[in-house]
Amino acid sequence: MKKIFLALILFAAIVTTGIFTRAQKIDDIADIVEGSKILVLNYHQVDNKNNPLAVHVADFEAQMKYLADSGCVTITPDELYAGLNGEIDLPEKPVLITFDDGYIDNYTNAFPILKKYGLRATIFIIPAFTSNNPAYMTWDQLKEMESAGITVESHTMTHPKLEELPDDEIRSELLNSKTLLEENLGHPIEFLAYPTGTYNLHIAGIAQDVGYKGAFTIKYGIVDRGSNFFALERVPIFNTAQKTMRDFYERTAWRQSFEEFGWTKR
Ligand SMILES: [Zn+2]
Repeated sequence: MKKIFLALILFAAIVTTGIFTRAQKIDDIADIVEGSKILVLNYHQVDNKNNPLAVHVADFEAQMKYLADSGCVTITPDELYAGLNGEIDLPEKPVLITFDDGYIDNYTNAFPILKKYGLRATIFIIPAFTSNNPAYMTWDQLKEMESAGITVESHTMTHPKLEELPDDEIRSELLNSKTLLEENLGHPIEFLAYPTGTYNLHIAGIAQDVGYKGAFTIKYGIVDRGSNFFALERVPIFNTAQKTMRDFYERTAWRQSFEEFGWTKR
């Protein structure tokens, strides 16, 4: 019993030391995103609210400045897909910046900062709320953003817990959102972010069946050639108000550490 206890302590110490060493070592995001590894960041709200999903505006700006100063190149989901398939060469430090839900602050607060630093981003939209709910963006705002380097994709029609729905409703959530976004924005919608991040093979199969090429989860990790196109990993960035950049570094660094310790993928 004692031996097991000691082994556990030793294991915990190794893991903890590893993580902190790694987190402290990383002072250049180039250490994180190289070659075919793609860092996918996941934001929700950019606002000075103290809710768990919000990143304060000044923190968001510091993070975007950091990405730009580090020479990161922001890519689209299409480029991620083509890069992983070997159809195109990805830039040296590819980063995909994503937002879920389509809150109005993405337009009022995040968009000017993204433009200022020449960064692209992808927003996963709930089209039932578009032009329908003042907390979310309008079709005109989405079109304006798309003309300036932002990509809009689907986050389902009404943001349900997909795993609790019968198949026909899962299918209509996935297909109707895709169709409505395509009609309003005039381009194919081929990528999805699972609402609440939950997914399973069955849901992924329906997504593929209705015409999506890939789907993003909230599974903490980095995307690389070992990733499943329908279970793409992301690094969540939220509520960084207390620790600002330190927190941002650590989240991107820990993600790498998890993989080094084999807590990864599938
Ligand atoms: Zn969501």
